Amino acid sequence: MVDYYLYAKKLISKKMSEDDYLYPFFVCAFYGLLSKYRGNGALISNLFRKTDFILEKGTIPEIIQRHNLDLDIMESIPDGVLQTLATSNQGHGFIPTEDGDMLYVKENPFVICSLSQYNPSRLLNAFCHEMGHLIKGERDDHSFHNEDGTTFIIIRTGLSHYIYSYQYPSTELNLTSSCGALDEAVNCIQTTDVMQEILALGEYVDDPKIKGFIDSLDKDFLQKDAGYGDLVDMIRPLWESETFRNMIENHVMYDEIDDVVAEFDSIAGEGSFEAMASYMDQALEAVEQEDEQRLDEIAQQFAKLILAYRKGIKTMGKD
Ligand SMILES: [Zn+2]
Repeated sequence: MVDYYLYAKKLISKKMSEDDYLYPFFVCAFYGLLSKYRGNGALISNLFRKTDFILEKGTIPEIIQRHNLDLDIMESIPDGVLQTLATSNQGHGFIPTEDGDMLYVKENPFVICSLSQYNPSRLLNAFCHEMGHLIKGERDDHSFHNEDGTTFIIIRTGLSHYIYSYQYPSTELNLTSSCGALDEAVNCIQTTDVMQEILALGEYVDDPKIKGFIDSLDKDFLQKDAGYGDLVDMIRPLWESETFRNMIENHVMYDEIDDVVAEFDSIAGEGSFEAMASYMDQALEAVEQEDEQRLDEIAQQFAKLILAYRKGIKTMGKD
């Protein structure tokens, strides 16, 4: 605990003065991230160094405009997200060439936070949620492949894949994604864990600024999962299974998703992982359309999947 705390202080001091009013915020955030995603200290400090942190007054779209952020890059941020407290971008970019080809460029990632209604607890959660995405996307395994004249560029972040495609000679990019909603739900749960690490630190620190910041946090708020509430409610019961939790957390950054799919299916039955991801996508759609009845139906289907998983676990004598 002390190690991560001192490490976080040293790290943050490289970018800002200890007198900066956001210094305790950053120290706590990175302490929590280093503790939660332990074993990834080098990756996290490298990410900290190269990421642009833009914390300003104004709404997210206003901040984006103010900084003239590359619209090509911004296209990958869904509209709904622009209304929230924070957003991030991994910096994957594409430049079409005159001969109908596409160049992949990796720019610095950035995180944008709106300070307009500064609430340290909400902002801390939103910021660490975005950092969670960046940390899990840092493996940077974009790959190209061709199929019948269509080029696919696949980027992995956590459990999700973003698939960009274009067809020669047009360089218009299409974007589809897989496991996006499942990845969001998992990221929310992991962010709640980050918050618990930070709250627990409060008992050990003696730096009055850091301690004061932690004491000011809304513990009730931070103990609950924030964002994507309906999706998290659906998946929480699965998360209580140690086998499930380990399966996701051990594979979320490295290894192949196929390994996760195979492991889950071996417990819950063939095609179960795909069904789980699909239910999550459908649930997100229902939430966006405020279709409560459909959400209920999906949650019922999801509960059946959890039952099948529990049965499998029992048979295998796990957990
Ligand atoms: Zn997210």
